[in-house]
Amino acid sequence: MTLSVVAESEVVTRLVGRHVGRKPGPKLLVTTLMHGNEPAGRDAASRVLARLSQGDVDLSGELVVLVGNTRASQSHVRFVDKDLNRQFTPERVDHLRRSSPSQRMESEDIDAWELLQVLDEELRPGEEGAYFLDLHTTSAPGIPFVLFGDTLRNRKWAESIPLTKILGLEEQLDGTLLEHIGSTGWVTLGCEGGQHDDPVAVDNLEAVLWLAMVGAGMIPEDAHDLGPSRRRLESARSGRPPIIEVRYRHPITPRDQFRMRPGFTSLDPVDTGTLLAMDVEGEIRARWDGWLLMPLYQGQGSDGFFLASQVKPFWLELSAVLRRLRLDTLLRILPGVSAHPDRPATLVVDTKVARIFPLEIFHLFGYRKLRSQGHVLLVSRRLHDLTPPW
Ligand SMILES: [Zn+2]
Repeated sequence: MTLSVVAESEVVTRLVGRHVGRKPGPKLLVTTLMHGNEPAGRDAASRVLARLSQGDVDLSGELVVLVGNTRASQSHVRFVDKDLNRQFTPERVDHLRRSSPSQRMESEDIDAWELLQVLDEELRPGEEGAYFLDLHTTSAPGIPFVLFGDTLRNRKWAESIPLTKILGLEEQLDGTLLEHIGSTGWVTLGCEGGQHDDPVAVDNLEAVLWLAMVGAGMIPEDAHDLGPSRRRLESARSGRPPIIEVRYRHPITPRDQFRMRPGFTSLDPVDTGTLLAMDVEGEIRARWDGWLLMPLYQGQGSDGFFLASQVKPFWLELSAVLRRLRLDTLLRILPGVSAHPDRPATLVVDTKVARIFPLEIFHLFGYRKLRSQGHVLLVSRRLHDLTPPW
């Protein structure tokens, strides 16, 4: 059975479209417009849905495309009251599930509540897997990239997209939809396709969506001409490394009067000692050679910039082996590391004692930073790293 629905009107409806292939296969859920001023993802997905509706692409499984922030989308603003893509912490989700929408709720609480209702229906895995892709764009011009929680299953899917993959960026953000859906066992990727209203961002995100469907096994490699999509993204990557990891975050407060030096964009290469910014204390220089990442939402928040380093294939292979052998149980016997008394799969790290075990070691074993306060670091093992829960 083939069924295609493409919404014709401006963004008021949650469903952009759905296409069910002739054969069973995985389910791919795509969200667009989690930020209301980022229509490129919806436009890209609409093109893909229109192409699929012609019936000549042999799709297995089901593609569903949703709008995240319907209310902000109507006014073309990032959000109305607050960032929708920070509302999906376990605590907020529990709270929203116990609420019912009312006039007194903030706009994004209503959208988050509605989205959770839709997800209750949509988050049913396909016969051959469950994939979630979240499409975004950035306020500043920049090179497109992919980000994901570093599970081996996410990594494998990300390999199908020839853009730079950034590890450790998503754990700087709490309450993203990506994290929420990832925690239910879906394979997840986020993509920043380029600058908000640049038509190239739509082309990039369309290419990402086609290749993501190939990577998920929904489209055979040879069923559709994917060469241009691959070449587009390879050239958009502009020689950046395949995988980098965030190793440093420069935190800021208004009192710092932090000012980035003009001219930098995300994924710019920087050398040790490069002057990056100024604040009340003076100059801020790069501590090592690496790749600069600007905050995803510039001009607000507590992030000045991030520095990332290339991850060599050796480390990726080593971490895959460590995780497959489940050697993370050994972490608990290290000095300064103990199991969290209440939370499962969570470790409490006393960084005064465990100084030689920085976060990178825990990343290697598949852990994510939950919180860092004083000398206490809380890390938890990412769920469903190797196998889905069903
Ligand atoms: Zn966004």
